[in-house]
Amino acid sequence: MERREAIQRKNGFWHVVKSLLSGLRLTWRHFLNADKRRQPVPVSDASYFKQPEGLVTLTYPYEAIPVPENGRYRLHNEIDDCIVCDLCAKVCPVNCITIESVKATEEIGMTSDGTKKRLYAPVFDIDMAKCCYCGLCTSVCPTDCLTMTPVYDFAEVDIKNMIYHFTDLSPEQAEEKKQLLAKQQEEMAAAKAAALAARKQG
Ligand code: SF4
Ligand code: SF4
Repeated sequence: MERREAIQRKNGFWHVVKSLLSGLRLTWRHFLNADKRRQPVPVSDASYFKQPEGLVTLTYPYEAIPVPENGRYRLHNEIDDCIVCDLCAKVCPVNCITIESVKATEEIGMTSDGTKKRLYAPVFDIDMAKCCYCGLCTSVCPTDCLTMTPVYDFAEVDIKNMIYHFTDLSPEQAEEKKQLLAKQQEEMAAAKAAALAARKQG
């Protein structure tokens, strides 16, 4: 009985020594490779999977691995090119795009692809906290003004800050546009009524 215990103790001792040496060997190997480190190259780079030695982590956020160009990250609307057609809001499966439009009383201008602009957008909000990054809105956008940017690190403490506002109108300007439209519609209705009355009399 005592002999068996002595053998077990001896085996346990050598097991501990073996583990210790194995750990030290690993530590020493990493120590010798510590001057090598992973480079912040994109996954498309040939060397991406060939950097197993040395420091394998990057000092984020001071350096970061570039994200693939076709990834889906934070949305951006280049409002100057937006024709406020509402297609993106309609296709969004989680209703995170809110658009309010006001018809312009005069020609506003053109987008960079030559499409005429006829509507103002007093409200153009995207709630990125609700977005599921499906990309449908960018696919349907006729002027390609709605795009996914490479920005993926945009966490916020206050969830309200996840709503991005893209309108280029101030509340005062939006109100002015609404009043101009209302005035124009009143004038058009009056002109139409006068024309109808004249037609009846004639
Ligand atoms: S990516 Fe999808 S979920 Fe996000 S705003 Fe566009 S349509 Fe909506
Ligand atoms: S689909 Fe494009 S052009 Fe139409 S409202 Fe959305 S962002 Fe603007």
